[in-house]
Amino acid sequence: MKRKLAAGNWKMNGSRAALAEFDAMQPGVTDSVEMVICPPATLVATAVEKAGALGIGGQTCHVKASGAHTGDISAAMLKDAGASYVITGHSERRTDHGESNADVAAQSTAAWEAGLVAIICVGETLEERESGATLNVIAEQLAGSIPDAATAANTVVAYEPVWAIGTGKVPTLEQIAEVHDDMRAKLSDRFGTEIADGMRLLYGGSVKAGNAAEIFAVPNVDGALVGGASLKAADFLPIAETLGAA
Ligand code: PEP
Repeated sequence: MKRKLAAGNWKMNGSRAALAEFDAMQPGVTDSVEMVICPPATLVATAVEKAGALGIGGQTCHVKASGAHTGDISAAMLKDAGASYVITGHSERRTDHGESNADVAAQSTAAWEAGLVAIICVGETLEERESGATLNVIAEQLAGSIPDAATAANTVVAYEPVWAIGTGKVPTLEQIAEVHDDMRAKLSDRFGTEIADGMRLLYGGSVKAGNAAEIFAVPNVDGALVGGASLKAADFLPIAETLGAA
């Protein structure tokens, strides 16, 4: 059975004190729902100690395992700190750090080599959406960002429209369905139906407790990547519980 996934991206937020939120998140983890928190790198090791039933992930990783790369963190280091996931290709990394599809693919390969599951993010800008380019943009990102060795076990794909992240704007359910159906079909063409069907496809962008039920009812949505609403258990737990009920 494919376990659904509620993944939280804390971005550059959180402190050791904030990890106390984990206690109240625990009931969200069930046989059918996995919960993962990706805190800032400074908190990964401590987060692992306090994780309980939650999984812990990093927010990016360098393509190399070690070396002269000041300020960077490798997938191997995340693994050593106890992480099991890493986000790659988040649009904030693509924009702020100029990460290309090829960079994201290399990071994802590095994640797998270290034994991490890669949560590979794709998503169109508002301009691309408005010009009707969404499906082409997503297809190009999927083709360029997901390496050939992807499996259902080592990869999660997150569709995150850039214009929906942190804005409170959410695509229509039809728009989410269109992209998720297309992603599943493209993945199936490339990797075969078994791998594509087993791979979890997350929607991300302004998911809240109030809109989670309708989003999780969309076919081919296997969970969510959640930013702001993952910081507090009072916001994140209801999202995970809604996922469990979907
Ligand atoms: C994100 O950063 O991945 C995200 C989805 O953020 P938010 O939920 O705050 O829109």
